[in-house]
Amino acid sequence: EGGGDMATSGAGDPEALCCPGAGGLALLGLAPGAPSCPHGPALLFVKTSPGKEEGRRFYACSACRDRRDCNFFQWEDEKVSETRLAAREEYNRSHQPSFTHRQNVERYNNFILLPLSKRRFCQECQQLLLPAEWENHSDHQFLCDISTAQLETPSQLLYPLENKKTNAQYLFADRSCQFLLDLITALGFRRVLSVGTPRLHEMIQSKASQEDFRIRSLLLDIDFRYSQFYKEDEFCHYNMFNHYFFGGEAARETCRKFLHQDSGERVIMVTDPPFGGLVGALSSSFKKLMAMWKETEKGVYNNNQEMPMFWIFPYFFESRILEFFPSFSMMDYQVDYDNHALYKHGKTGRRQSPVRIFTNLTPSMIVLPVEEGYRFCAMCQRYVSSGNQHCEICNSCTSKDGRRWKHCVLCKKCVKPSWFHCSKCNCCTLPNHSCEEAGAGCFVCGKAGHKRSTCPSLSRS
Ligand code: SAH
Ligand code: ZN
Ligand code: ZN
Ligand code: ZN
Ligand code: ZN
Repeated sequence: EGGGDMATSGAGDPEALCCPGAGGLALLGLAPGAPSCPHGPALLFVKTSPGKEEGRRFYACSACRDRRDCNFFQWEDEKVSETRLAAREEYNRSHQPSFTHRQNVERYNNFILLPLSKRRFCQECQQLLLPAEWENHSDHQFLCDISTAQLETPSQLLYPLENKKTNAQYLFADRSCQFLLDLITALGFRRVLSVGTPRLHEMIQSKASQEDFRIRSLLLDIDFRYSQFYKEDEFCHYNMFNHYFFGGEAARETCRKFLHQDSGERVIMVTDPPFGGLVGALSSSFKKLMAMWKETEKGVYNNNQEMPMFWIFPYFFESRILEFFPSFSMMDYQVDYDNHALYKHGKTGRRQSPVRIFTNLTPSMIVLPVEEGYRFCAMCQRYVSSGNQHCEICNSCTSKDGRRWKHCVLCKKCVKPSWFHCSKCNCCTLPNHSCEEAGAGCFVCGKAGHKRSTCPSLSRS
């Protein structure tokens, strides 16, 4: 098997863990009247400690899991003085981007009028520079001769914010991006709500300039650098953990309008959130976007339908996603990335990516490329990985990671090939597990089997 690594190791796979947590953090969600940080309304959490019945509730930044990015914190029952409230408001104001989206659009319009020799991009500030601004950036590294092609592919001009847990920007490999777009096109969609998928958005945008390509895209992303390249009806500064539009009612209206399907133009939402993301928070935002889509449908048609969606996420979150979206199913397609060592299609052979597509569309409609080894299972009525064998007992193609899984009669289900049935634990697990370990929960997610440093809910790698 080409590189077991990430996709198959026990650590980082919450499904490998069978025992409920003994303490940790739980998300309660968006609460009415929640205080705000520069990233919009904070989320309410509860911190539980082993042995104590009731946990203590607190608010924390919805977007940043790294305290260095945003250290907003407030106990729910904390009294906040008027002066502190005022200071907080001032702080939130001063932490907004220095240019508004409108100003950035205007700057772009001026930028494209410049001759190539005067088109500079400051790599330190991640900003297109107008000649009058050169002086202020004189000791910064910059790129020259920024071409139209470069302006059309901002995801390659901007550096990915991958070091930050907050953004976790992992860009689709061209092959995966092209696959998604081909699939969307083949399914007959004409509009794509791109939530945290700047590379898919830019692929659509640059094709939109070609004559016979009719698909439109609106990008919702927390990365404001993209506002330098897109107009106000092409990009909204948005936080997908609290459904917050930084541009206020006008931006919300842009999104609402975009979701309105006139003349039968079908919409699909595609999202690829940071994997450290809290599934509960993401789900509640996505439900709000779905409701927005539905609202505009009033009295038109398909009233009892859901907005079609592709949610791109690792397979080990399957049960979490299905909890919130029971109509979804997971596709076997392995999504590859450019700037992620573990999830990309290597030079020497294929590394297994654990990232999949979850969708509420009928699985049989999601045609996976046969030349990449996917095949159609007539019994399951969906495309599966070549290694994914149909289990007669489960009556399903049960593999999650692309390898052939084996059926355990005691567990009454298929399990990873490397697992064995432990009679002490009474379940299938890794051969080298120690039975006593079970029960000692991870500090962060409360689940057993791993420690805080390797908690799958914190980071992708
Ligand atoms: N594979 C995608 C990128 C996914 S990386 C592509 O190639 O297009 C995750 C994306 O989500 C990044 O663009 C990041 O800026 C965005 N993001 C991270 N946190 C977010 C938040 N709280 N709200 C909205 N977008 C966010
Ligand atoms: Zn600069
Ligand atoms: Zn089975
Ligand atoms: Zn166990
Ligand atoms: Zn078993």
